[in-house]
Amino acid sequence: MKTFKVSIVTPDGPAYESDVEMVSAKAQSGELGILPGHIPMVAPLQVGAVRLSKGAGKPDLVAISGGFLEVRPDQVTILAQAAETAENIDIARAKEAKLRAESLLSNKQDNIDFKRAELALKRAINRIDVYEGKGQ
Ligand code: ATP
Repeated sequence: MKTFKVSIVTPDGPAYESDVEMVSAKAQSGELGILPGHIPMVAPLQVGAVRLSKGAGKPDLVAISGGFLEVRPDQVTILAQAAETAENIDIARAKEAKLRAESLLSNKQDNIDFKRAELALKRAINRIDVYEGKGQ
């Protein structure tokens, strides 16, 4: 099957690069699947797992904390604030972040930034899912 190049780039540098047959990601408007020959476009992404399929084996999973996906002829680039492959995820840190966010969200005080805590919880759950190989 035809392949195309995918790069996932963060402010710290490249996080992933490979030739793949298909990439799927969670866009703001819903799940997005890109195959070779897709028309050029840019889409904002949610916190979620990027799934990179390379044939018969299991797809690679990369946790990203939002960003943009750009399709150009023969190349897809994902610009993300943070991105980790399953092997690079510190699972203890992600579980601590999840507990921290949950405890903030269960707090009844008004001075809690709920939006921020909710996003932190999403990032933590996403990392745990990708680490466990079940990123959606
Ligand atoms: P924490 O509260 O643990 O810092 P966070 O969601 O606030 O989590 P981010 O601001 O999204 O962290 O990321 C800051 C940097 O730390 C990024 O470079 C990101 O890739 C990295 N990072 C965050 N959590 C993890 C993790 N569990 N494993 C590996 N790298 C992580």
